[in-house]
Amino acid sequence: MPDQPKTLPLVFDEPRGRRRPPRHLADLSADQRKVLVTELGLPGFRARQLSTHYFSRLVDDPAQMTDLPAAEREELVASLLPELMTPLRTLEADRGTTRKTLWRLFDGALVESVLMRYPGRVTMCVSSQAGCGMACPFCATGQGGLQRNMSTAEIVEQVIAGARSLARGEVPGGPARVSNVVFMGMGEPMANYQAVIGAIRRLTDTSPDGLGMSARGVTLSTVGLVPRMRQLADEGIPVTLALSLHAPDDELRNELVPVNTRWSVQEAVEAAWGYARATKRRVSIEYAMMCDINDQAWRADLLGDVLTSYGDWGWVHVNLIPLNPTPGSRWTASRPDVEREFVRRLEAKGVPTTVRDTRGSEIDGACGQLAALDA
Ligand code: SAH
Repeated sequence: MPDQPKTLPLVFDEPRGRRRPPRHLADLSADQRKVLVTELGLPGFRARQLSTHYFSRLVDDPAQMTDLPAAEREELVASLLPELMTPLRTLEADRGTTRKTLWRLFDGALVESVLMRYPGRVTMCVSSQAGCGMACPFCATGQGGLQRNMSTAEIVEQVIAGARSLARGEVPGGPARVSNVVFMGMGEPMANYQAVIGAIRRLTDTSPDGLGMSARGVTLSTVGLVPRMRQLADEGIPVTLALSLHAPDDELRNELVPVNTRWSVQEAVEAAWGYARATKRRVSIEYAMMCDINDQAWRADLLGDVLTSYGDWGWVHVNLIPLNPTPGSRWTASRPDVEREFVRRLEAKGVPTTVRDTRGSEIDGACGQLAALDA
């Protein structure tokens, strides 16, 4: 892989001169689909039929689209349902209720998604970019740099693939639906803003235009690209926002989340608070617990002070993530007693705090490890 540019503004740019992923029904709104189908010289209502197959019936075999005349079917499938990705490997853990899939995209780029089934809910963790340009040193994806942005349909297709395997009963526990989507796979979703917003719209558009999910079930996790956080607040889609803070002070955060040199702790937290105020959605502060790096008692106190300086009206909670050490990394997870003390201090300041479970760690499906071993 060529050296990645180190300057941060480039993360907003689509790499030039590349072939784009094939256009797909999921890239388009219901209206756009209709226009396109009409332009193909076919009746506009075919767009809705095709959407029903894709989003509601989760059909992927054209032979099952028997309501479409054979000749039209071929043209519709070629124009709107091209193959976007092929599964290379699926790894299972937790008796099959955690499944990580490695996908090859049309240009050979590799991404991963993870399905996690819990009692009463199913969460899909999806990638939004092949690679990532944010260079957080403790994250495996961050080490390889950015390959490219994913298209809206490539993002959506990961959820549809999970929905299909659930509907077909391939995941133990009987047929089920995807209830939650978290943008916590590979990539920085805010650096691929338009495609990610498009994907969120497809997930939340009512059936059969989209998957009909609740926006509340969607979590977008960001390193803190402040202008994009503000833009999201204005978008009027009440998804849950998660901010990867990892340190309450600029000195340490500059190292752990390099984009902090561009937008500081204060700016990022203020934008998160602004999001909570605008959407009435409680934001989540992510904090990967790293032994003797960011887990000191004084940092717990400082984090509590930083967050409560914006009031204690329940706008925020902290989600501690046990660090999942990446191969060759100099960081290790915090000790359990240190973690407990960190939680205690935050709660003493009135900040609700949870510790994330580490599903999938044995299949390298946990935070920041996606696809790194295969790249
Ligand atoms: N780019 C987005 C999504 C990344 S993955 C973001 O940074 O928010 C979701 C979370 O996993 C982020 O909080 C990220 O910092 C965290 N993470 C990455 N690598 C990790 C690791 N090795 N151990 C624990 N958490 C990690």
